[in-house]
Amino acid sequence: MHKRILLAAAAALALPLPAFAQTAPDVAALRDAALKDDLAWEITEGLTTEIGQRLAATEAEARARDWSVKKLTALGFSNVRVEPFNMPVWVRGEEKAEVLGGSAQKLTIAALGNSGSTGAKGVEGEIVYFPTFADLQAAPEGSLKGQIAFVSHSMTPTQDGSQYGPSGAARRQGPSIAATKGAAAILIRSIGTDYHRNPHTGGTNWAKDQKPIPAAALSLPDAEQLERLLKRGPVTMRLRITPEFKGQGESGNVIAEVPGSDPAAGIVLIACHLDSWDLGTGAIDDGAGCGIVAAAAKRVMDVGQPRRTIRILWAGAEEPGVFGGAAYFAAHKNERHALAAESDFGADRVWRVDYKLPASAKPMEDRLVAALAPLGISRGREPAGGGADVAAVIAAGSAGIDLQQNGTRYFDLHHTPDDTLDKIDPAQLRQNVAAWATMLAIVANAAEEIGPIVTPAP
Ligand code: ZN
Ligand code: ZN
Repeated sequence: MHKRILLAAAAALALPLPAFAQTAPDVAALRDAALKDDLAWEITEGLTTEIGQRLAATEAEARARDWSVKKLTALGFSNVRVEPFNMPVWVRGEEKAEVLGGSAQKLTIAALGNSGSTGAKGVEGEIVYFPTFADLQAAPEGSLKGQIAFVSHSMTPTQDGSQYGPSGAARRQGPSIAATKGAAAILIRSIGTDYHRNPHTGGTNWAKDQKPIPAAALSLPDAEQLERLLKRGPVTMRLRITPEFKGQGESGNVIAEVPGSDPAAGIVLIACHLDSWDLGTGAIDDGAGCGIVAAAAKRVMDVGQPRRTIRILWAGAEEPGVFGGAAYFAAHKNERHALAAESDFGADRVWRVDYKLPASAKPMEDRLVAALAPLGISRGREPAGGGADVAAVIAAGSAGIDLQQNGTRYFDLHHTPDDTLDKIDPAQLRQNVAAWATMLAIVANAAEEIGPIVTPAP
């Protein structure tokens, strides 16, 4: 009888499990030891200090890959390698915004990733104000000709970060929509929740064949300043935003493994992204995520060979458009992924665990919920979707687990110059490692069938 079928039958009948499952690690001891972890901090500190910002497909990201290969090899992982891929390269230039006329003053902006350029001479135009993204969508075709669109909207800090989806539309789609209506440029209120004079960058997506227009975010104080000026009368601004598209360049995924004893049981994929935006040093987004997943995998590796192979993916080029996640899926989609998970929401405490698991894994789910409870983590009701870099693997049928972090202050820092190491609380970072080590020890050693939930087409 096939081992997996035997295991499923044993689990269903509550029979004693085969020897490898009985030698599974002492999860409670592993979890409690991880609360003293220093490795996640060491990785995050090293990456953010020795490399700094890691804009996708630039020489900085290439140095980060070299650093990562050395680090993961030194930690004792197997099959450490870079899987390169090509992508369009975008780099920031100068960025200046000023109000003209009687209230002449400078405002603080940051170009959005994939923004077009004003050219060295800049552009001048009247501001057309849209209080919400929906208002911009409703503007008549051609109505913005030669003008500068300004989209505002509010965003409330929440523990689950759920406002990022709807609020972020102004950044992700707003510029392309403004361009189709004839705008010369667009400013948005930062997709963020802090009142520092730090604009939040982030990627924007252009519709097919749409020529990029200059697109930038105002810090929240500057966006509200502009709103007050607009209440007093028409506002004309001059923008000088000079980023460049540099053609195709190389990025890459860094991969490392803990080989399992039962290759047929599938891979447990754990991910973060190695690239960052260029304003800060990418500590919370997403150096900490890379530190957390690697530190947890090392703890599980060090207590004995797991049943399933644990594969660490430090994805390249997530920020400008999930190029690393797409390259990983293209290269590995025909491998059996039992489960995928990603850490990419800062370094604050995990408070909830969400699942996408088959019914056969219910006993494992219950063991996991019980083991996570002492860390202040409870069972969620949402289906797990993974982070951006593993979403395709989960959508194709792999099981998924989301260890949800507290995002209350995430959007104060996200994509700003303030995303730096000092914002990470070491105690909360350790709690993340404990949660991930607990999850990995249980999932990588579980006797139950986990995934794929739907077998991918050959
Ligand atoms: Zn991220
Ligand atoms: Zn990000």
